[in-house]
Amino acid sequence: MDYPLTVQHIFNRATRFFPHKEIVSRTETGMRRYTYADFGERVQRLASALTGLGIQPGQRVGTFGWNTYRHLELYFAVPCMGAVLHTLNVRLFTEQLEYIINDAEDQIIFVDADLVPVLEKAFGHIPTVKNFVIMGTPTEVTRLSPTLDYETLLSYSSPHYDWPELDENDAAAMCYTSGTTGNPKGVVYSHRSTFLHTMGACLADSLGITESDVVLPVVPMFHANAWGTPYAATLVGAKHVLPGRFLGAAPLVEMIEQERVTLLAGVPSIWIGLASHLERLSLEPETAQPDLSSVRIVPCGGSAIPPALMKTMDRFGLPMLHAWGMTETSPLASVARLSSHHLTLSESEQFAIRNKQGRVTPLVDCRVVDIATGQEVPWDGKSVGEIQVRGPWIARAYYHDEANNEKFMDGWLRTGDVATIDADGYLQIVDRTKDLVKSGGEWISSVELENMIMAYPKVLEAAVIGVPHPVMQERPVAYVVAKPEFEGQITPDEILDYLRPQVAKWWLPDEVLFIEAVPKTSVGKFSKRELRDLYAAQKSAATAS
Ligand code: AMP
Repeated sequence: MDYPLTVQHIFNRATRFFPHKEIVSRTETGMRRYTYADFGERVQRLASALTGLGIQPGQRVGTFGWNTYRHLELYFAVPCMGAVLHTLNVRLFTEQLEYIINDAEDQIIFVDADLVPVLEKAFGHIPTVKNFVIMGTPTEVTRLSPTLDYETLLSYSSPHYDWPELDENDAAAMCYTSGTTGNPKGVVYSHRSTFLHTMGACLADSLGITESDVVLPVVPMFHANAWGTPYAATLVGAKHVLPGRFLGAAPLVEMIEQERVTLLAGVPSIWIGLASHLERLSLEPETAQPDLSSVRIVPCGGSAIPPALMKTMDRFGLPMLHAWGMTETSPLASVARLSSHHLTLSESEQFAIRNKQGRVTPLVDCRVVDIATGQEVPWDGKSVGEIQVRGPWIARAYYHDEANNEKFMDGWLRTGDVATIDADGYLQIVDRTKDLVKSGGEWISSVELENMIMAYPKVLEAAVIGVPHPVMQERPVAYVVAKPEFEGQITPDEILDYLRPQVAKWWLPDEVLFIEAVPKTSVGKFSKRELRDLYAAQKSAATAS
């Protein structure tokens, strides 16, 4: 049968088969719980409300919120009624936010009450937005206008909505890249791509989400659709645990323990914070240690997992699953699961494989291409090239930029990630093209250096950037954050002595500089752009003085 693959199927199945399963959401006043049945009714009320407000099929509905049950309701009501969910990154600079809202022509924006002051800064510069719907109670009077209250809107709207017949190629959602240069670029996901990506995420050799899982996405719902976990968990009827804005290590531990979370998803910086918290707790024998035994797996991507972090998480019974992808790939593109023939390998050999970015998931094709020659590199685990991918959930163009063929070439997406691929097809990312340090005609992997430095027991975070050099073109400089208990007790020489036996001499950073925290991007990655700016500012200040 020619059966359309739409988000409606995910919703209908979940509410029909799992009415008693729970959706739990952290709020200011504690955990709010309801069932898929309640959720189903509220999603239909929301769709009725949107129709009542004049939202037409294909129009963009913006969201400006944390991971909450209301955001989950929007994830379903908007695409199921034929409109397009546009999740806005709440950590963007106001100009970028304005650019994105205007580029997408959002008609209405749903905003969490505590984020109203952030969105207010864009008010007056986003003419397409006709209504602001506030989720929760703001503490102050807002300039946003006109405003509606989410709960009032739902209470007056019909709990029955007949979903329209949709074409599976209709747009369901869109996200903008967290691009560090130039304006962010829009990526549109169709119902079909979302559906297939959801199936891909649920495959046992992928994230393997099942009905018995309790899924806690720390990755924001505005970062590449929380990696598809809201749709995947709903399709299979898993219990959702949504952390709201409570993303610190202590509240996360509390939620894991109380709700018996089995699957956590987030970027490495979140787990660096959590692991450091657990390490500190373990040094306090009189403190009761948290019971995290329910956790089965911690999918992690967004940037490379430092091996030292993966080891610490293993030690606390939190096995990480390395995954790779990008906004343009929906985002799940590869996952590092061990294959059956790896099971006879030693623990350290298995660890090395788990630490790679893994194999592309079924339906994603990949090739690793030598940028200079345009030829595919051999699958030898050594030759380096750019990862290029294609598949039914890989973007074919940017929104409003369909002519851009720099990133999209001969039906392939050029990811800008440089990697090796081994005989089994496991990718290992060496760096992003623009972060590789080009030293005297050779490349130095900033990721490898960072991983080594972060393996030093006194180090919490490390980020390496290439800085201009008159002879060598670029040289590596390391910014290092000490663990709180070792603050002020590490020296640059100590780091260099630690690195010396592990790397070629020319890989050693020219400078090791200590900072309080590595600046992060809006989605929690190390911000190399900010570090380059910081370095330039430090140098010009030093020259001036
Ligand atoms: P974004 O679109 O913001 O999710 O960023 C996508 C980029 O994050 C990719 O192109 C990679 O450079 C990086 N990335 C994502 N996952 C990983 C990973 N597991 N290891 C290394 N880099 C990653």
